[in-house]
Amino acid sequence: MTDRYAKSRDLFARAQNSIAAGVNSGIRKMEQPVPLYFSHGSGPRAWDVDGNEYIDFQIGQGALLYGHAPAGMAEAIGEQAKKGTHWAAQCELEIEVAERLLKLMPGAELVRFNNSATEVVLSAFRLARAHTGKPLILKFEGAYHGWADEGLVGFAPPADKWGDEENPSRLHPSQGVIPEVLGTFVVARWNDPAHLRRLVDHHRGQIAAIVFEPVMCNTCCMEPVPGLISTIRELCDRDGMLMIADETITGFRFAPGGAQEYLGFTPDLTILGKAIGGGVPFAALVGKKSAMQKIIDGTVVHAGTLNANPLCLASSKWCLDHVIEMGSDHPKVVFDLGKQLMAGLRALADKYGIPMRPQGPGPAFHAVMLKPGAEEGPVTEYRDYVRRHDGPRWAHLRICLLEQGVRAIERGLWFISLAHRQQDIDDALAKADAAFAKHA
Ligand code: PLP
Repeated sequence: MTDRYAKSRDLFARAQNSIAAGVNSGIRKMEQPVPLYFSHGSGPRAWDVDGNEYIDFQIGQGALLYGHAPAGMAEAIGEQAKKGTHWAAQCELEIEVAERLLKLMPGAELVRFNNSATEVVLSAFRLARAHTGKPLILKFEGAYHGWADEGLVGFAPPADKWGDEENPSRLHPSQGVIPEVLGTFVVARWNDPAHLRRLVDHHRGQIAAIVFEPVMCNTCCMEPVPGLISTIRELCDRDGMLMIADETITGFRFAPGGAQEYLGFTPDLTILGKAIGGGVPFAALVGKKSAMQKIIDGTVVHAGTLNANPLCLASSKWCLDHVIEMGSDHPKVVFDLGKQLMAGLRALADKYGIPMRPQGPGPAFHAVMLKPGAEEGPVTEYRDYVRRHDGPRWAHLRICLLEQGVRAIERGLWFISLAHRQQDIDDALAKADAAFAKHA
């Protein structure tokens, strides 16, 4: 039998000799049956080096909101490259991009650029501590805020170390972390406003900020229960804490103005990454002028040689113009197609008796694979997810989907891009039918 991933396997074997573990981001090693090598992409489709075509719902881990190689973006970057790739100084493009962000994001009065959302998270936490003079950051269990020491506290803790429901443990999945960092966090369970209120009251006067992914895409695409976001806003206003929305995934995806427009709230600081650059290393901290004051007066250091790099700015300007031009067509594409895909996958799951339950708003959703005997109904918090989601069974279904040419993210997340069309959803469901049949 021919191996449909032979060239990827060869390259991955070769990479072991020059690249640590063969990949440049730990998570990419998780891809089964082998980390794939790609040759090119166009719109919602991508081709690997073995010539396999995929309808892509991984879509650059969400960065490619406009699809692969969208017409116009390469030209914009190329034109800029001819004029200069980097100045480490100012250019008019950075103001043009900032002005577009102010137009799009409800919480944007001022911006600062970085190259990754991980950096922006660190900037936001530093700023919040300086702004309030308080030491602690409250975050939610299961939430991912980048890979640095401060972004991963309370992400994916193992069940035997959860701690009690009122005081979730402050664990870090990596070795080598500065131990004191863990003590600068308070971890709350997602989607329990009363518990959040008790925790904030317990640490009252010590918390600088509450950081949250407005829809927790990184763990099971869990939407906030009614009252959660308003409780965060109310507690932040009451105690002078900053409300930090991490919109690295949700920004531009759930609405042109991100989850803050979709859910109707205004944070003090917003973290933007991924789709702001459409596939180049670009990210932004945006916020209210009052919250950015310590950067304005220079008492908080924010720096970076490649910040506001002109190639990234050219790409970002193209992306934001695309979002602005799409206007009200934007949600029609991502919500309608996303919901159709979710419904179609659910119908296939029923047809083949597979306990797979897509959940999420549509532009992003998660394929929950219920463990034997697990109860039905939406998963609403991290512990519930661990208790009910059957990771190995989902991994098998994902391999079957990949063989048919449908690519979702290893851990179960699916993204719709603005480049997906009705035909892509229809094709994906036809291919998924064969994949589900094989899995069952
Ligand atoms: N915050 C969230 C919510 C994310 O999903 C990610 C990445 O997936 C990050 C922060 C870190 O982004 P980056 O990988 O650009 O550093």
